[in-house]
Amino acid sequence: MRQVRLPAGEKLIALTFDDGPWPVTTEAVLDILKRYQARATFFWVGKNLERYPQIARKVVEAGHAVGDHTWSHQYHKVTPQAAAKEIDSTAALIARDTETSTRLFRPPGGNLKNGLAKYALSKGYTVVMWSVSSADTDPKAPWTAFADNVLRGARPGTIVLMHDGGGDRRRTLEALPVILEGLQQQGYRFVSVPELLAQAQPQELEASRARPAQARP
Ligand SMILES: [Zn+2]
Repeated sequence: MRQVRLPAGEKLIALTFDDGPWPVTTEAVLDILKRYQARATFFWVGKNLERYPQIARKVVEAGHAVGDHTWSHQYHKVTPQAAAKEIDSTAALIARDTETSTRLFRPPGGNLKNGLAKYALSKGYTVVMWSVSSADTDPKAPWTAFADNVLRGARPGTIVLMHDGGGDRRRTLEALPVILEGLQQQGYRFVSVPELLAQAQPQELEASRARPAQARP
């Protein structure tokens, strides 16, 4: 699933943040989201969650949705057993540390062909990709480029890829208020992925569930 078709006039956007929980930046993202009454979705890496459970709890307490992003941010081809370990161990830790459960999965690197997405689908997860990338993992681009990428690409039903963890995300923190401000002025509201799915037109949701493997790379 990359985006959803919404009823006419529904201007909803789902911002997603990958690779946390992460010191400093995750909480800074929470502060910024709060200023705009924005809900978002955080895709966690299990080994980061193991280190920073107290940050994770703040995300859940603030009302955001969470998803599974594997234990070790695995890009490579994995056996079904390894896929199970990557995804199940992370889900178990999410349940233990935040008393929440998730059926959202995002494959690291957006790789749909290395066995992870296949396993997640077999376990009933929705595989959540994105339709607009901020490209905020670009090591050189200025933060204004991240904001431009999102402001130019946003449409009703868009899922936006950003990162709160995995490295120095100060530029993402610079871009985020500009993104929220710009989209809010266009009349958008910011919802979690489950909230976006709940507003999707039924036939669109059916199609995305039935054919996730055909999504473009
Ligand atoms: Zn990632």
